[in-house]
Formats: sequence, C-alpha cells, structure tokens
Amino acid sequence: MNPEAGPDQTAPPSALDLQLPRQLLDPGLTGLPAADADGLVAVRLRCVDGRIAAIEAWPGCPHHGLDPAALPLALTPLVEPHAHLDKAFSWAPHANRSGTIAGAMAANRNEANERTQEQIHGRGERALERGWRQGLRAMRSHIDSLGAWWEPSWQALEALRLRWADRLELELVALVPLAHWGTPAGEALAARVAATGGLLGGVLGPPYRPSRDDQRALEALLRLAERHGCGIDLHIDESDQGQARGVRMLLQVLRHQPCSVPITCSHASSLALLPERQLRPLLDQLAAAGVAVVALPGTNHWLLDRRPGCTPRLRPQAPVRQLQAAGVLVAIGGDNVQDPWFPGGDFDPIEVLRFSVAASHQAPWLRQGLAPFSTEAARLLRLPWDGVLRQGGPADLVVLAACSWSEVLARSPQRRVLRGGHWLPPPLSQQPAAVLASVGGMTAHLSP
Ligand SMILES: [Zn+2]
Repeated sequence: MNPEAGPDQTAPPSALDLQLPRQLLDPGLTGLPAADADGLVAVRLRCVDGRIAAIEAWPGCPHHGLDPAALPLALTPLVEPHAHLDKAFSWAPHANRSGTIAGAMAANRNEANERTQEQIHGRGERALERGWRQGLRAMRSHIDSLGAWWEPSWQALEALRLRWADRLELELVALVPLAHWGTPAGEALAARVAATGGLLGGVLGPPYRPSRDDQRALEALLRLAERHGCGIDLHIDESDQGQARGVRMLLQVLRHQPCSVPITCSHASSLALLPERQLRPLLDQLAAAGVAVVALPGTNHWLLDRRPGCTPRLRPQAPVRQLQAAGVLVAIGGDNVQDPWFPGGDFDPIEVLRFSVAASHQAPWLRQGLAPFSTEAARLLRLPWDGVLRQGGPADLVVLAACSWSEVLARSPQRRVLRGGHWLPPPLSQQPAAVLASVGGMTAHLSP
C-alpha cells in the first residue's frame, strides 16, 4: 500500500501490509515473527466492516518483494492528554514575543477578555479537525473557567464534545485558581462540570504565587471531586524553581485526606530539579498514591529557565523515564498551540512524539518510549480502547510515509489515517494559498 494517496485509494481497504510496533499488536497473537531492532513487526491486516478481521505474518508481496523494512510504518491513532482549546490559535492577535510566563499571563488575560462563544467554538472546531485528520482519537482540554467567559466557553466546547463524539473523544477540565474551589461559585462550577462528565483542575505552584491558603484550597478541591466523582487534573510545579513544592503538598494532603478519584499532575516540571536521592522517594509516593503525570516538554522548553540574553541551561520537565521506572502512569502532551504560551504546535501527535525523542529521550522503538503517546495516554483518559490492534477491534490506523523510526525523525512524515476502516481526507493545508503559490513558483525556478 502506498500511503501517499491516489484517487483510487479512498475506498475501504480489505488488506493492508504494514510494519507495526509489537506493543500495538495483540500480545496473545501467535505466528508472528519477532520484532526487529525498531520494535516493529511486518503484518498483513485484513479488515471487514470497519473491524480487524485477521492479523497475519506478512507473507511478502510482488510490490515489496520479501523485504519487510520497505513497508510503511503504522501506529494506532494517538491521544492528546493536555490541550487548551479555548485559547488555541490566538497568537497572532495576542503574541507574547518576550516568551516569558508573565508576558503569557498578561496576553492570556487580554485575549480572554475578548473571548466570545462563537470564537471559542471556531477555535475548538479547527483544533479537533486538525487533530482528527492528523491521527488523534481523543483529547483532554483544560478550559479557563473563571470570569465572564467560563459559561460561554463550556457551552461552546460541550457542544463540540457531543458533535465530535464518534470521531474524537473530548474530555474537558475546568481550570481555575485553586482557591476558587473553596468558594460557593466553585461549588456551583464543580456541579456543572460533574453533570457533563468533566474534571476539576487548577494551578498549584507557579506561575501563580504560592499562598499559605494553597493547602486548604487543595483540601477543598479533593472534597469536591470526591463528592461529585470527578477526576482531577492540576497544573502543578510548572516552574524552574520551587523544587516540586506542589507535588509535595499534594502528597502530604493525600496522606491525611485520601481521595478515590483519579488524579493527574500536569507539568510537574520542577521535579527535575531535585537530586536523585530526594526524587526517588517522591516518585515512589506518587506511584503508591496512584497519581498520574502528564509531561509537557514543548511548553516547558519554551517558557522555563528563560533569562534575558541567555540560552537556557536548565531544562525542567517531568522526569518521564524515572517516573515510569517508579511505576507512575505517564502520558506526554502538546499543551499550548499557537497561543500566548507557545507560538507553534498544530495538534499533530507525530510532531509531539518527534520533539519528545530529543527533548525527553523517549526512544519510540522502546515500549516505554511510545506508550506515553498511545496506550498509557489511553489509560489516563480511561478510553474504552487501549490502542492495541486485535481481531474484532477497530480498524483504526495512522499510516506514515516512513519505513523506520529514523525516517519518522528525519522529516515530518505525510500520513493517511484510517478510522473504522475508511480513509480520512488528508489534513487541509494551513498555509495561505498565495504563499503556497509563491513558493511553488520559486520551486519551479530552482528545480533542474
Ligand atoms: Zn496547560
């Protein structure tokens, strides 16, 4: 199969010859060859009525001969565990060219004061369309939920959640200053969020100033979440200082106030500043408390350890590999997309993976390297499908125009996405037509 679409390739395929990571194939399958050094196995997938009818060892074919390394590399659709749909694509009118957290907060505030329901709906629609066509099947998004814009934001994104439910599962998290959960307005918000299956969020630690009331606010949040049965996802320790103050406080509170709802720590960046002997016991405590972590290397690399005129020396980000070794559930996400907190990003899960290979040493040929984008992220969002291909399971794939992980890393690969046995239309170019035409003209001059 050629992943570069031709007009004859839009029909549902009945058989696909691909290389897949062994960890994304049913572990109970017999008769498959051992995975190669890239962790890949060549298979022939048979699809019927949108489901996987059979997974067989690749027998070779006239087109590719007997070299499995010439087959396209495929994954199952991926999961974005941390996004901000309400502010996505707001960089152009609200750029934060200083790249500082203070600048991002100020621009975020200005932008939020102008938000309308239609605008948030438009941003969310564009984001989900980009993500879906580029290979996402689920997303968790935080929503700024304090101030005049919270109700329109929830209405717009709740409508999108329902409209997109059969294409991309969307989870919504109410993001407020932590102290809000101790107020009557916070109680009302929690009831509203719970009614639509959302999560309660907040910020513990920088960029907000630490407060002596943080602990009481955290206790109030845990009580509310428990009462409403809502999961929790905190922006915590997103900092190049403070040495995991927020994580320590959370663990301390959980010791005297255990909580049965799932808890996620997003960012947890300043954990990386701890010496190993202090880090290890904290990671063990996170694992014992069942607290998950979402690492966000892209935004962390852009914002943290930023000093005028200096290239950063510290690279604070959640210590993914040590967390995994301690038994903590870890997912990796893209966070901000073209908003005051980061000017780039495009809801492209393959780009997040490519960046993390260098930024976090997540080697995708290792089980633990790939899992935070796929199976572990699915576990975090409690999705019904873990992302492993099985007979009778969904015929859902992201087929890359690459035959090895090195090729995936060499250049952003074109791809085709199969959902329920049907090929999706490719992502629309986001480049203005005039720019493309002008580059096309230059290319014509440069080509031999
Ligand atoms: Zn975030």
